[in-house]
Amino acid sequence: MIPVYNEEESVMHLYKAVTKALLDLKRPYEILLVDDGSKDDTYSNALALARSDSRLKIVKLKRNYGQTTALHAGFQNARGKVIVTMDGDLQNDPDDIPVMLNKMDEGYDIVLGWRHDRKDFFISRKLPSKIANWLVRKVTGIPVKDNGCAIRAYRAEIIKNFPMYSEMHRLMPVITALVGAKFTQIKVKHHPRKFGHSKYGLSRIYKVLLDLVALKTIFSFFYIPLFGFGVLALAVGLISFAIFTIGILFLFIYPGQSLVTLFGASALCAALSLFLYFLGIICHLIYRTGNLKIENLYRIKFR
Ligand code: UDP
Ligand code: MG
Repeated sequence: MIPVYNEEESVMHLYKAVTKALLDLKRPYEILLVDDGSKDDTYSNALALARSDSRLKIVKLKRNYGQTTALHAGFQNARGKVIVTMDGDLQNDPDDIPVMLNKMDEGYDIVLGWRHDRKDFFISRKLPSKIANWLVRKVTGIPVKDNGCAIRAYRAEIIKNFPMYSEMHRLMPVITALVGAKFTQIKVKHHPRKFGHSKYGLSRIYKVLLDLVALKTIFSFFYIPLFGFGVLALAVGLISFAIFTIGILFLFIYPGQSLVTLFGASALCAALSLFLYFLGIICHLIYRTGNLKIENLYRIKFR
């Protein structure tokens, strides 16, 4: 399954290369192209190819929604038990698909590609991605080497309904692994972009960082919201108490001086502490009565 946005020159080469790799496999397959609202001839080029090959399916999105949403549409429309994703710009190599499928046969839920010899600019692409990968490993403890590599194989039922928003497709392997999916990584080939141009700038780094913060918060506090909020409430409560004590001391040391600011700050912290505590209670009640599981939150299904 391949999301494509303004890749008119690549479509034909892509189709040929993928078909060649898949025909050699002698397994049933379909190629699903998700046209993410392209403004060039991507869709008509794909349609022309689909007319003579029933194994090529096209999902057309009404406007450009972004790669994450395009992938989601693809996951929902794909019919295979295993879904392989890759980029539509010929940077991934379809010859890696058979290797991935063989790995899937060994019983993995996800097989991830790792662009060990990546053909992109160093400063604008490889360096930021190295730092981001390191950060994801540190924060989540999941040793994924290349979160940005698009060529991956998934067992379909795991990711069919995965909630995809922001840049979440990058963190999917990490999230599913945190819940218990079995994954492995293999070295894959990578080529420079031949046609068109990359659709991203550095802004994606900011989005990925926010996703990572959200992910860490959810996984840290999901099962123990009261504890998380309780610790915060206690800390703010102690600060309130400390300011109050200083206020009382000042009352004796500098009699007659206005201490409105100090006592005001103390009262504010006390109120914040109570607020956090009750927020924790509410979250706790939702958690206890909702019978929630993190698998349900990410709609991840295991056998
Ligand atoms: N893509 C998409 N919608 C978008 C942006 C990109 O479907 O809004 C597709 C694009 O056509 C390509 C893949 O997502 O097949 C990866 O995009 P790109 O090659 O621009 O990203 P990069 O390889 O530079 O990270
Ligand atoms: Mg690319």
